[in-house]
Amino acid sequence: MSEPLLEVIGLGKTFAVRGGLLGTVRGEVKAVGDVSFSLSKGEAFGLAGESGSGKSTIARMIVGLTAPSAGAILFEGSDLASPQGVASRRAIQMVFQNPGSSLNPRRSIGQSIAVPLEARKLGRAHIERRVARLLDLVQLPADFRVRYPYELSGGQKQRAAIARALAAEPKLLVLDEPTSALDVSVQAKIIELLIELGRSLGLTYVFISHDLSLMRNFVSRVGVLYLGRLIEVGSVARIFDAPAHPYTRSLIASVPVISDAEQAMKPKEPILEGEVPSPANLPKGCAFHTRCPYAFALCAEIFPDAVALDVDHFARCHLLAPGESRLRDTAAVRAPGA
Ligand code: SF4
Repeated sequence: MSEPLLEVIGLGKTFAVRGGLLGTVRGEVKAVGDVSFSLSKGEAFGLAGESGSGKSTIARMIVGLTAPSAGAILFEGSDLASPQGVASRRAIQMVFQNPGSSLNPRRSIGQSIAVPLEARKLGRAHIERRVARLLDLVQLPADFRVRYPYELSGGQKQRAAIARALAAEPKLLVLDEPTSALDVSVQAKIIELLIELGRSLGLTYVFISHDLSLMRNFVSRVGVLYLGRLIEVGSVARIFDAPAHPYTRSLIASVPVISDAEQAMKPKEPILEGEVPSPANLPKGCAFHTRCPYAFALCAEIFPDAVALDVDHFARCHLLAPGESRLRDTAAVRAPGA
């Protein structure tokens, strides 16, 4: 296996909760806890989870918009918090859910795409050639250079936002729900474009989404987040065909399918009930125990260790045993130290 391009090691983020007129600290929210994963060059890694799972906070820490409270992020072997790492930040760019975040409404599309090029002090003619090339790469007509964001559809704006991210010549693109504001037919076109750009430019992706079905044809590995913790990581084949953690099993069971054969292959899991608990008040033990149909006494007390189920596939659940993705009977489970 090649050297990892990105290594996320024990990453954590805690936000202070403030209140009152003086903004006194009233508590804290553990948005992300002890998250670790790595990506090889050219790989697409998916981070899946519901709202509040910490996926966008992880994205913002990778691109340097939010400082971690714990852990480290290495890019090409350098800690992004070190002077050498800070210098390589330009090689990591983000595409946001709302393309309006990266397109200034008062700038033409060409002017917005040119911002990262101007920062590098390139000559005007060079910038114009690069803008034309970037518009071509994202399959927008050349005359979009002089148009303004309000004249573009949602899908066209997202293509322009991708062109702007590519202007910095990134090696890693962090895609934070890049299609969730778009119609389904437009979503598919943007995913096709990202796959094509990944191949032609050798890009590495972190793809963040609440929608597992979107990931299936895009990423090679998936990490599933629940309340800021990675509860399962595996190849896309393992996650879709042999999901192990009860939460992942429920997510896969709710992914819509188009054939009876696919329906027959899905895990038979009850629909998840109950709200996701607040990250400000994390349940003790396994944070999923308040909604898990398999929960038993140990779950509310002890946080489960990661269990290796296969090469590059692990999950955190007391009912899992090494080498198997089948859930054991609770009678087979021994409490740690028992
Ligand atoms: Fe469910 Fe317990 Fe496994 Fe958590 S550890 S997923 S609560 S069975």
